Amino acid sequence: MNLFDFAPGREGYYGNYGGCFLPEILHSTIEELQAGFRAAKNDPVFWQEYRALLSEYSCRPTPITHLANLSRDLGGAQIYVKREDLNHTGSHKLNNVMGQGLLTKRLGKTRVIAETGAGQHGFATATMAAKFGFSCRIYMGAVDIARQRPNVFWMENLGAEVISVQDGQQTLKDAINAAMRDWATNMADTHYVLGTACGAHPFPEMVSWFQSVIGLEARGQMLQAAGKLPDRVYACVGGGSNAIGLFQGFIDDPDVELVGCEAGGLGPGIGKHASRLAYTDASVGVAQGMKTYFLQNDEGNMNETHSISAGLDYIGVNPILVHLWEKGRVRFEAATDAEVADALRLVMRREGLIPALESTHAFVRAIREAPSMRRDEVILINQSGRADKDIFTVAEALGDAKWKQFIKDKAALYAAE
Ligand SMILES: *Cc1c(COP(=O)(O)O)cnc(C)c1O
Repeated sequence: MNLFDFAPGREGYYGNYGGCFLPEILHSTIEELQAGFRAAKNDPVFWQEYRALLSEYSCRPTPITHLANLSRDLGGAQIYVKREDLNHTGSHKLNNVMGQGLLTKRLGKTRVIAETGAGQHGFATATMAAKFGFSCRIYMGAVDIARQRPNVFWMENLGAEVISVQDGQQTLKDAINAAMRDWATNMADTHYVLGTACGAHPFPEMVSWFQSVIGLEARGQMLQAAGKLPDRVYACVGGGSNAIGLFQGFIDDPDVELVGCEAGGLGPGIGKHASRLAYTDASVGVAQGMKTYFLQNDEGNMNETHSISAGLDYIGVNPILVHLWEKGRVRFEAATDAEVADALRLVMRREGLIPALESTHAFVRAIREAPSMRRDEVILINQSGRADKDIFTVAEALGDAKWKQFIKDKAALYAAE
């Protein structure tokens, strides 16, 4: 199945979803990006250069790990994990960012900007800019800056300028708007490095293409490690980039079931979660450059969202995944905050892995479903990142009194700054 085989006159559309909805002023720069990306994608040397850069700089290929203890405990399917947590900066985000860095160079641009919520994408972008010698500005809501001091610290020390966005609710969506304004003003020398497989065409296609490296590696590795393809593949879904990246390795294998795991937060109900497809609160709309499912009200204003993991806490979702979901190719499920805390504890104690809170959503569903599968069946989970960044949240969620005090002291330190 070629995901990017657009119907005539429908470039950038996946069924009814996707498209390119941007203000007039950005049309020339997005067309330049579309053409530049198309040329790079058709140039095999570019992909070779990309793969070589990732293997030299970010530990690719990342390994597959068999969870022997947990598989035995659960008594069902054999569970394997793709280790995107071993990338430099701690998550799959660097795959996308290094690809866009190479493209920026190819476009002859010298400056990059990005938006960031939790800070992981800003951290990865600042890293890439330092490596390539680009000047770099990261837009981040003032509220998020206060919540994510360690990431801000690293971004600044890597040479990026972090702009505190004071508009609106001072979070991710306001940071996106500020980055868009910067892009419109400085597009001659500036590339906007979008952090997930969302936004206006070509971003969903471009980010998916860079992240496909996960699935391409994983398919071969599973054949080697398990002697067969996985029966079910699980990935968490925020904007959708790590999921579509992994799924592309198995999309043409109809017997491999693909499962997207969203943030169920506190459970169903408006404002309590960030689940666009597994729960029924979202509807189709046009925002942030694309047509897709959004958590919005009847007037098209975006709802508040909630998740234990900042990286899944997003109102929209990758239009390609929506299309695959409608066609029945991808199943969507949600995992709640409480289930995530339990699964994280289990995975740490039994396997010594420390998946990011985002990735743990995928573990929740796999752990729940494995016992009802046969022992000769095989599960693959994408561990999209590691949980170093989540230390304070995890201490809070796992409810250890001693560590709660440590967190309080740290929070007081940050607040006093
Ligand atoms: C940002 C992030 C995500 C969510 O983004 P996707 O685009 O849905 O992959 C998931 N896991 C980790 C570790 C992240 O940092």
